[in-house]
Amino acid sequence: MITRPAKNKSKSFNKHLISLPLILAIVIMQLSACGKAEPRRYSTSFLGAFDTAITLIGYSSSQREFDKYAAQAEKRFIELHQYYDRYNAYEGINNVYTLNQIGQQAPVEVSTELINMLEQAVEWQKNSSGAVNIALGSVLEIWHDYRAEALADPTAARIPDRSELEAAAEHTSIDDLVIDKDAGTVFLADPAMKLDLGAVAKGYATEIVTRELLDAGWDSFIISSGGNVRTTSAPPVGERRAWNIGVQDPEAALEGRDDELLFTLQLVNKSVVTSGDYQRYYLYEGRRYHHIVDPSTLEPASTFASVTVVTEDSGLADFLSTTLFILPYEEGRALISGLGDVDAAWVFLDGSIEMTDGLRDMIIDKED
Ligand code: AMP
Ligand code: MG
Repeated sequence: MITRPAKNKSKSFNKHLISLPLILAIVIMQLSACGKAEPRRYSTSFLGAFDTAITLIGYSSSQREFDKYAAQAEKRFIELHQYYDRYNAYEGINNVYTLNQIGQQAPVEVSTELINMLEQAVEWQKNSSGAVNIALGSVLEIWHDYRAEALADPTAARIPDRSELEAAAEHTSIDDLVIDKDAGTVFLADPAMKLDLGAVAKGYATEIVTRELLDAGWDSFIISSGGNVRTTSAPPVGERRAWNIGVQDPEAALEGRDDELLFTLQLVNKSVVTSGDYQRYYLYEGRRYHHIVDPSTLEPASTFASVTVVTEDSGLADFLSTTLFILPYEEGRALISGLGDVDAAWVFLDGSIEMTDGLRDMIIDKED
């Protein structure tokens, strides 16, 4: 019978059809047993936090997974920026701006993130020389306003009177910052006192976001937020066993050549943060007035073109880079050698460079 063999034939053909997906499934299972889809490098940038573009680069098994981590990072950066912002108010949030407006009248309820950050900054400040003082807001505000005015109209550039700076400096005692952790409030016990977290907020926020991404299961990425880079585990694929992070040449940066590097560092699980005199400044009578103010002179610090700090915690690195930018070289060097696991490079105004041995060991040759 024609039909029977045909039926049989078709049965055996079906048998093959059924077994094909099975074979495929086994092959796929074996492939995934050998290793998941090999991680690939993804990157993205976003604006809206800390007045800078924040770039995220990392290895993920899919674009979707990367996008999930990037969305988490962006949301958190914007939230933290709003808590630490001293120049803008946000609906429903009591932030540094709120504290500077009304925190001198009565204790103000603020977020845990702001309380934690203030406590941490006070601790770092007390363990260093106090060159960075988050209660220096009233002095920094004067320089900020003169800079804004000069940038808006360079022909109207001027510098503040000593008397104006000295009057403001009367209201910068960190002891007047009253934090009540249990009540979740902050009070400024001097009616003319103001806070400024600019020396540390971006790095502190970068550290929080990094740790939250690590907790979420991502382990090989970097966050770069304007002069402030946090690296995690080394790239999981390829030859490279570390992240290569370039440090800008401050003199070239002043002349607009932002891509020129002083050196490149090879890092794993470290932050690298640079403070420089080329970042925010204005010119008056041929002199440059930048944004880092030495509390002992009430003038922009005038020894270095840039200082770079490498340590694991990005908040500490940010705090220390501003501190070392202000302190005399010997004092700064003594400070970090007492801390342990902190390296630095100081670029003097004449271009000469000093660095710790640990930092020298991280520099890679151009050919690497
Ligand atoms: P950074 O770019 O991290 O070095 O920080 C510079 C920012 O820190 C400035 O724009 C100010 O907001 C703030 N700042 C400058 N000088 C001081 C200081 N002596 N103490 C505390 N904050 C400062
Ligand atoms: Mg800093």
